[in-house]
Amino acid sequence: MSRIYNFSAGPSMLPEAVLKIAAADMLDYRGSGMSVMEMSHRSPVYDKIIKDAEASLRKLMNIPDNYKVLFLQGGATLQFSAVPLNLMKTGKADYIVSGQFSGKAAKEAERYGTVNVVASGKDVNFVSVPVVPKEAFSEDADYVHICYNNTIYGTTFNYIPDTGDVPLVADMSSYILSAPVDVSRFGMIYAGAQKNMAPAGLTVVIVREDLLGFARQDCPVYMDYKVQADNGSMYNTPPCYPIYIAGLVYDHLLNLGGLEAMQKINEKKAAVLYDFLDSSSLFKPTAVKEFRSLMNVCFVTGDAELDKQFCAEAAEAGFVNLKGHRSVGGMRASIYNAMPAEGVDKLVEFMENFERAHK
Ligand SMILES: *Cc1c(COP(=O)(O)O)cnc(C)c1O
Repeated sequence: MSRIYNFSAGPSMLPEAVLKIAAADMLDYRGSGMSVMEMSHRSPVYDKIIKDAEASLRKLMNIPDNYKVLFLQGGATLQFSAVPLNLMKTGKADYIVSGQFSGKAAKEAERYGTVNVVASGKDVNFVSVPVVPKEAFSEDADYVHICYNNTIYGTTFNYIPDTGDVPLVADMSSYILSAPVDVSRFGMIYAGAQKNMAPAGLTVVIVREDLLGFARQDCPVYMDYKVQADNGSMYNTPPCYPIYIAGLVYDHLLNLGGLEAMQKINEKKAAVLYDFLDSSSLFKPTAVKEFRSLMNVCFVTGDAELDKQFCAEAAEAGFVNLKGHRSVGGMRASIYNAMPAEGVDKLVEFMENFERAHK
């Protein structure tokens, strides 16, 4: 068996220590005589799995008691619809469009009400994140929506917008668990699990209690946050196995020292790659420096053919999934929590050699 360095933007690498526990638990989960995949979600043994996962996430992210944690399905994409269905009390919301996903979120919300795009990074091709002052937000908006880390463009918010009393809602799919977050600054945070938490199939929603109970009449029952909260994410069958893996990942990160420790590790890891890109005469980073993502590092050579050749040779050398998103081209190295520092060091070494051969 040999594991390669997988720079996929998602689904992405999981910690090897977690995969080993999952492998050991596979046929007989701790004396239950069955796999977690085969269990009733109503059984006491599974009840402990989901409750422990929630407790670990609360500890890891320091989630205040007046927030509910929901384990749902449908990806971040279903939240693009669930957010307006639940939170558009009067039918108006502000959106900052800082990339493709926030654009999709805004477009989906338009089905349900009036969407005010407060700022967009489109005219700079999303290489930076709009800095929006408090005065720019509508005072009567039901919420303000942002995408905290732009997975496709490799940019990230370096500030939390001040929206006053208007709840701030953030898609943190590719940011969550990479660094500490002051949850109390947000009305709601959501994230698809397959970037930095668990296998695909799980979406985590962290929502302030006072925002529950306002879902539109035509909101599907599954997507009503209050229904899900009142039923402990078990109105129907939850994504049992991804929740179990997420719990293992949360405990793994707690063992590593929590999110402060992860931030330090991630800053160091990303710096190795960005420092190289800044000094390279062949590769150029695409994101504006102060908005660079620690999780998704985008770069180009400036020559599409050479980019293609680079990705092909890198894959052959054991560095896979470096191709940029199909809509932007170039390269993207996604270096989530589970990417070992050694993977980044070795990638840089490979890039140095490639540069020497192509000068
Ligand atoms: C990947 C991603 C999405 C889409 O997630 P799905 O789980 O495929 O719906 C949305 N937002 C962000 C920021 C992402 O990185």
